[in-house]
Amino acid sequence: MDRGGLIVERISFVTLGCKVNQYDSAAILNMLPEGRYKEVSFPEKADIYVINTCTVTQKADAEARNFINRAKRINPDGVVIVTGCYAQVSPSELEKLEGVDYIMGNFDKVNLTEVIQDAKPQREAKVIVSDIFKIRRFESPEIKEFPERTRAFLKVQDGCNYRCTFCIIPYARGRSRSLPVIEVLRRMEMLSNSGYKEIVLTGIHLASYGRDIGTDLLSLLAVIEKAKIVKRVRLSSLDPADTTERLINFVASSETICPQFHLALQSGDVDILKRMRRRYSADKFLHVTNLIREKLPDAAIGTDIMVGFPGETDKEFENSFNLAKESALTYFHVFPYSRRKGTPAALMQNQISSQIIKSRSASLRGLGSQKKNEFYRSFIGRKLPVLVEGPVVSGHEGGSGGTTPNYISVKIIGGDCKIGEEVQVEIREVVGEKALGFLALH
Ligand code: SF4
Repeated sequence: MDRGGLIVERISFVTLGCKVNQYDSAAILNMLPEGRYKEVSFPEKADIYVINTCTVTQKADAEARNFINRAKRINPDGVVIVTGCYAQVSPSELEKLEGVDYIMGNFDKVNLTEVIQDAKPQREAKVIVSDIFKIRRFESPEIKEFPERTRAFLKVQDGCNYRCTFCIIPYARGRSRSLPVIEVLRRMEMLSNSGYKEIVLTGIHLASYGRDIGTDLLSLLAVIEKAKIVKRVRLSSLDPADTTERLINFVASSETICPQFHLALQSGDVDILKRMRRRYSADKFLHVTNLIREKLPDAAIGTDIMVGFPGETDKEFENSFNLAKESALTYFHVFPYSRRKGTPAALMQNQISSQIIKSRSASLRGLGSQKKNEFYRSFIGRKLPVLVEGPVVSGHEGGSGGTTPNYISVKIIGGDCKIGEEVQVEIREVVGEKALGFLALH
C-alpha cells in the first residue's frame, strides 16, 4: 500500500501460548517504526506473517504448523517468520516445512524488528537461533500499548532453572533472568500513563524473580506497593514451593496486589510429584492453600493440574482428584500430559492412553467448574469492585463486563459503564461462568 511514496506493509501476528509470549509479541509490535506497518488480523492477507509459537504440548506444535501452512496459502508471496519456543527447541523440524522464510529463537526476538524491516521471501529458511543457555541477561523491550484495554501484562522474568521431568520450557527459555527493579517501575509508569488500571506481572517462573540480580519477588512487591503507580497489580502463576507465609501475609496486607494466587499443583499424588521432580509435597500444597484461605478469606486460588503423567494409576489420579476436592482451590486449569521429546518423562514406561486421559480430564474439569461456581455463589448479596473491561451482551440483556480483584468475572446488568473505571457491583446471581450483578447505589 503506497502512502505518499511510503510503502505500508500489512503485518499479521499470530501468538500462541502463555502471557510471556503475548508480551513478547506486543513488545515487537510496539517497536516497529510508526506508519510503516498496518497490523491485520489472521487470516486476513498480509505481506508479513509472524508466528510466535509455543511448544509446551504436541498440540501447540501442530497448531503452529497449521498457521504456517495457512499463512502461505493465503499469500504465497508473503514472508513467514516463525519465532518463539517451537522455533527455539526444534528449528530443524520447522526448516523442513514448506514456506517458512525465517526461523528465530526466543532470545533472537530482540533482533526481530530488524529482520521484519528487511524481510524477503527465502529459497530456504534462514535460521537465527542462539544458544538460549548462553543468555544471562534479561532482554525484552518495553511496551506502551497492550492488545487489551484495561489489563496489561508486564514480563519481569524469563527462563527457569528447574527441571521438572515433563517440561520442555527450560530448553526453550533458558536460565532464569530478571528485569531490574528500577526498570520494572519505569515500565509500569509507561503502562499507567497509557491508561492501564491493572498490570499483571508475568514470567516463566515468576517466583524466581530477582535471584539473579540480588533481590526477590517479595522485595519487588514491597517497592511496587510503596510506589502506588497503578491501582491493581496481579501475579501470574507461582510455584507452590516458593509461596511462603511472608509472601501470603504481604498480599493479605496489600492495597495493590490482587487477592488471587495461581499455584501450579500439577498432581496431588505424592509419588507422581516425586516422578515429576516437583519441589513440594501434596501436604505442603494443602498447607499453603489453607494458609491463603485463612489470611485472605475472599481470595481466588487457582491451579494447573496435569492428567495422565506416565504411569499414573487410577489410585494416583484419585489422590489428585481428592486433594483438589478437599483443598481451598476455587478454579482449575486441567492439562492432559503431552510427551515432549528431550524430557525425561518422554522416556518413561507406561505412557497413558488418550481415552483414559480424556475421561480423567473431564471428571477433574467437572470438579473445577463446581468449585468455581461455589466460590462465585459465596459472594451473592455482597458488593465487589469491578474493573470494567467492555460491553457484554448475553441472553436478552446488554451490560458491561469486568473482573474483580479476586478474579471473579462479572456482568453488570444494564450498567453502561466506562471501560477502565472501577465500579461497585452488588452480586445477585451466578449463571454459568459469570456472576451477575447491579451497580451498587451506595
Ligand atoms: S518450574 Fe518446572 S514446569 Fe515450571 S517452567 Fe520450570 S521446569 Fe517447567
